[in-house]
Amino acid sequence: MKHIAIIGSGPASCYLADSLLRMIPDASIDIFERLPVPFGLVRYGIAPDHQGTKAVARVLDRVLSRDRVSFFGNVEVGRDIRLEELMSLYDAVALATGASRDRRLNIPGEDLPGVVGSGAFTGWYNGHPDHRAPAIDGVRSALIIGNGNVAIDVARVLAKSSTELAGSDLSADVMSWLEAQPIESIHIVGRRSAADAKFTQHELAELGTLQRAVPTVMDPASVFGNGAIVETLRTFTKNQSRSAQVTICFHFNLTPIGFLGNERLSAVQFRSANGAVTEIPAQLAVTCIGYETRACCTANPANGVFTNEEGKVEDRLYVVGWAKRGPSGTIPTNRAEAQQVAQKIAQEVPDSVRPGRAGVLPLLEQRQVCWVDYAAWRRIDAAELARAGGERCRGKLTTVTGMLKAAQVDQSLSCPSAIT
Ligand code: NAP
Repeated sequence: MKHIAIIGSGPASCYLADSLLRMIPDASIDIFERLPVPFGLVRYGIAPDHQGTKAVARVLDRVLSRDRVSFFGNVEVGRDIRLEELMSLYDAVALATGASRDRRLNIPGEDLPGVVGSGAFTGWYNGHPDHRAPAIDGVRSALIIGNGNVAIDVARVLAKSSTELAGSDLSADVMSWLEAQPIESIHIVGRRSAADAKFTQHELAELGTLQRAVPTVMDPASVFGNGAIVETLRTFTKNQSRSAQVTICFHFNLTPIGFLGNERLSAVQFRSANGAVTEIPAQLAVTCIGYETRACCTANPANGVFTNEEGKVEDRLYVVGWAKRGPSGTIPTNRAEAQQVAQKIAQEVPDSVRPGRAGVLPLLEQRQVCWVDYAAWRRIDAAELARAGGERCRGKLTTVTGMLKAAQVDQSLSCPSAIT
């Protein structure tokens, strides 16, 4: 018997739990999640119009439903329980806390209204309780910094018409904000060449299929080299004379050096490869340049991740997912990685000398933490599906209070609690 705690409930966490169940027949696994709802990046990172990709949540849900797995939603490590306490109660603890902090460019004007990190922006349009709508209006020109798939997601959500967004789980508030912006142009700006872009071909090509938006390249001569990405961008260069309600314009070899504006953003300044400084007007800029892991109690990240050796941070403490390797890879990357880390745990961690769940339950009760178990999560899920209606596939609850109400957990308990 081994008692294992996993902190975080995104894809890396669920795949780790699944692998541990397969490798350790009598493992007992408790998953601690600071929000009342599970699935992390699947719920709050995958774009709301890519419901096919989001469907992986069903696979992850099956893991949470297993007998030897317990979900402890609305339990924040650091607020309700300490990492050190989990280490003393469980035979092994795994950090699966992802990378939720937006990397910063550290250039002038980054805090101007209208400049927002991709985590905050995608979190907002995905209904994350921590994030709000950009505090600006009248966006005619939106500018996206970065040449990865998150940049494409953000561009696509801004570019799509309401009809194209039907069937997503975007909230009515998000739809209203998007519909209210008179967007004419979306600029996607990379600091390196077209051949260095990190887009995947399928995601890039999708921009060429939108109803009201047409992708182009600012300088066709900047598209040289080989490969599927360059070929797709080359097809976009032929759109230069096409008129459209929204133009998605790719720029390459431009390094951001400043955000300009008095009360709010009005333009972004770049330096080109030959040293020339250029400005692109924009009322909204979304920096899609990656993420960093936050500290978890006494576990402190370095260079955006928890320092680890093939998933091991220290004796009995492990790490998986973006908290381990940084913000890279796709959802299946986590499955392969989780298998390796699970194998390490199975080999290294001796059979139980600790109480696991039997020790944590009295502690949470004593602290009056109102945690959301798997059955309560399913009540939230049912409530969100019932709120769908009309053109949405899900009516996400966007506040912790709303989620706890739908979970029907005892809200008379001190929620949130705090360790003293
Ligand atoms: P990413 O693929 O690493 O792209 C980050 C981009 O930001 C790169 O173009 C990078 O340029 C640029 N960048 C970094 N620092 C910069 C700076 N200081 N100034 C200017 N540009 C800077 O990251 P991502 O787009 O956030 O995606 C994260 C992961 O999620 C990726 O593995 C991605 O494929 C995955 N994802 C997949 C999907 C999908 O499959 N549909 C959707 C979304 C995300 P350099 O290359 O020059 O460093």
